[in-house]
Amino acid sequence: MAEHDLVVVGGGPGGAAAAITAASRGLDVVLCEREEIFGERPGETLHPGLAPLLGQLGLEERLEPFIHARHAGIWVEWGGPRAFMDYGGDARGSWEGFHVRRAEFDDLLLARAREVGVEVRRPCAVTALLGENGTARGVMTEGGPLGARLVADASGRARWLGRALGITSPARSPRFIARYGYVEGACSARDAAPLLCGDASGWTWTARVWEKTYQWTRLSFGARQTGDWLPEELRSLTSLTRSRGADVTWRIAERTAGPGWFMIGDAAAVLDPTSAHGVLKAIMSGIAASDLAAGMLRGRLPPEGSATAYHDWLAGWFAQDIAQLIRFYRILNASLFG
Ligand SMILES: Cc1cc2nc3c(=O)[nH]c(=O)nc-3n(C[C@H](O)[C@H](O)[C@H](O)COP(=O)(O)OP(=O)(O)OC[C@H]3O[C@@H](n4cnc5c(N)ncnc54)[C@H](O)[C@@H]3O)c2cc1C
Repeated sequence: MAEHDLVVVGGGPGGAAAAITAASRGLDVVLCEREEIFGERPGETLHPGLAPLLGQLGLEERLEPFIHARHAGIWVEWGGPRAFMDYGGDARGSWEGFHVRRAEFDDLLLARAREVGVEVRRPCAVTALLGENGTARGVMTEGGPLGARLVADASGRARWLGRALGITSPARSPRFIARYGYVEGACSARDAAPLLCGDASGWTWTARVWEKTYQWTRLSFGARQTGDWLPEELRSLTSLTRSRGADVTWRIAERTAGPGWFMIGDAAAVLDPTSAHGVLKAIMSGIAASDLAAGMLRGRLPPEGSATAYHDWLAGWFAQDIAQLIRFYRILNASLFG
C-alpha cells in the first residue's frame, strides 16, 4: 500500500486549508471528499478576518468574482434597541465582511489545492480508519485503502474520526437546532447589512447573500420551529428551498489530536452560528494542524507535544468563545444556562 504523508477527510474549508498548507510545505497529500458536487450549504457570511488567511492560501486575488455582497458590519437587536456593530477598520478604510456561495467558495479552495499538488479524490467517501490502539495509519475509502503517516479529519459535523476512535464530544450547551432557508425577492432593509435579532425564545438571522436572495436562520431555545416559518421581514418573499435543520449544540472533542491524527474545523469543535466564525475557525485550524504536521514529519517537532499544543490551543479558544456566548445568551434568557 503506497504511503502518503497526509490524508485529509473532507473537502470543506477546513480540509482544503489543511491540504493546501501541507502541500505548500512539500508534503504528499491526498484529500477525499464524498460529494461529487457541492449543493447549497450554509456559512455564506464571512468575517473580514478571513481575507489575510485566504491570502496565505494564495487566494485573496482570485476571490473577487466570487464575492456577491459586502457589508461593513451587522445590525444587532439583542435585549435593547437595534444598533449597528461595525467590523472596524484601519488607515486604508473599513474592514468588510462578505458573502459567498459556499459551493463556489469550497470549489475554489479545492481548485487551489489541486494547483499546489494535492491529489483530490471526489467523490470518495472515507469509511474506516486504518491503524490500531488509537494510532492512525491511513483510511479505508470506497475505492480501497489509503496509507498515510498522518490523517486529518475535516468531515464537519459528521465527526467521522471521533466516531471511529470512540472519542466523544460532550454537549456544552442545551440542544440547539438551527433552522435555515433561502428566499427570493426584495427586502431593501436587508441589502446593506445582515441583522441578528434576539428575543426570549431564540434568535433570528437574516442576510442578503447574493442578488435577490436572502438567507435566514432561526434558533429557538424551546419549541420546535414549524416547517413553513419565515422571519417577519422576509414573509412576502418566495421560498427557494424547504427549511432545513442543523444540530449546532456546542461541542468539542475530548481529544482533537493524537498519534497520527488531527481533527479540524467542525469535526473538532462546533458552536452555533451566532459565533459567526465557523469558516474562519475551520480554515485557521486547518492551517495550524498542517503546520504542525509538516514540522512533525520533518522531525522538527515532537509528535506528542505537538498534539497536546494543538488541542490546548483549540480548547482554550473554545472555552473563551463559550464564556462570551453564555454572557450574550443570558441577556436574552437568564435561565438558559442555569
Ligand atoms: C445554519 C448555519 C449557518 C451558518 N452560518 C455561518 C456563517 O454565516 N459564517 C460562518 O463562518 N459559518 C457559518 N456556519 C458554520 C459553518 O458552516 C461551518 O463552521 C463550516 O462549514 C465548517 O467547515 P468544515 O470544513 O469544518 O466542515 P464542512 O464545511 O461541513 O465540510 C465537511 C466536508 O466533509 C465531507 N465529508 C463528511 N464525511 C465524509 C467522509 N466520511 N468522507 C469524505 N468526505 C466527508 C462533507 O461532504 C463536507 O464537504 C453556519 C452553520 C449553520 C449550520
